[in-house]
Amino acid sequence: MIPAAFEYVRANSVDGAVAALVEHGDEAKLLAGGHSLLPLMKLRLAFPSIVIDIGPIKELDFVREEGDEVVVGALTPHAELARNDVVRQQLPLLARAASLIGDPQVRHRGTIGGSLAHADPASDLPAVVLALGATLVAQGPDGRREIAAGDMFQGFLETALDEEELLTEIRLPKSAGRGWSYQKFTRRSQDWAIVAVAALIGGDLAPSVTLVNMGTRPVRAEAAEAALVAGESPSEAAAVAADGTEPPADLVASSEYRKHLAAVLTRRALEEAGSR
Ligand code: FAD
Repeated sequence: MIPAAFEYVRANSVDGAVAALVEHGDEAKLLAGGHSLLPLMKLRLAFPSIVIDIGPIKELDFVREEGDEVVVGALTPHAELARNDVVRQQLPLLARAASLIGDPQVRHRGTIGGSLAHADPASDLPAVVLALGATLVAQGPDGRREIAAGDMFQGFLETALDEEELLTEIRLPKSAGRGWSYQKFTRRSQDWAIVAVAALIGGDLAPSVTLVNMGTRPVRAEAAEAALVAGESPSEAAAVAADGTEPPADLVASSEYRKHLAAVLTRRALEEAGSR
């Protein structure tokens, strides 16, 4: 449980972090809250020789409204997303999901940027930003680049970020007024989701239903979304929620059980979203 030896570098600015990434290349890893990276290092599943601590970049810890969007800095901790008034009013789905992550220590140290860059399909926030239609902003040596949430998650722990890029902010369309629900099924209250479902319906936009831990990355329940667009009931849409998915099997649940859960949780999510 002791990580391999590494050199520790503190970055005090976004430019400083990018410069360190350019200098050290694939030997380096960014450190945000450390609640995914450090366990991997202790298990020796990750062994960067340089760890670049971006925690000191306080300018990346913010929540602000910009027109029709809420913009969240990459270093905003989960606990702030859960309690921030703007997030609670304009993005209640995000606030609720953040409040269900791990335990208080995880929520106070872990950051939204770290969760999205880590891209664990069992994590809550990747599927939530996918449901919300977020745009992720990255900064690299060639400047700033926007990545649609739908393009960000490419496979198990794989994202569209380049090695020399830092995720700086997440831009989320306000969703106040739309029906929403986040249904997370766990063995114990502080566990990772066996399966979770994020639903956003109503308003002028198409319904959005996304799934946690139902594949190698967060996925849309496309068949359920299409059923809702076709005017089918929440139960009918939920029945096809797992169509086209390939959920993992592990010690906690079989693939078939996850498919069953996806249907049950999608029905609950659509019923709750419809009542809001
Ligand atoms: P770090 O661990 O610091 O970094 C994770 C990865 O992202 C690293 O590869 C790092 O280089 C990279 N990275 C970090 N920030 C950036 C950035 N700005 N730009 C580019 N790359 C970056 N998560 C859930 O969703 N649900 C849970 O229920 C849950 N339970 C947990 C329980 C425990 C006991 C623990 C330890 C963790 C749990 N987590 C859970 C994970 C937690 O949410 C992590 O905080 C999160 O996944 C990673 O955020 P971090 O800031 O700690 O990132």
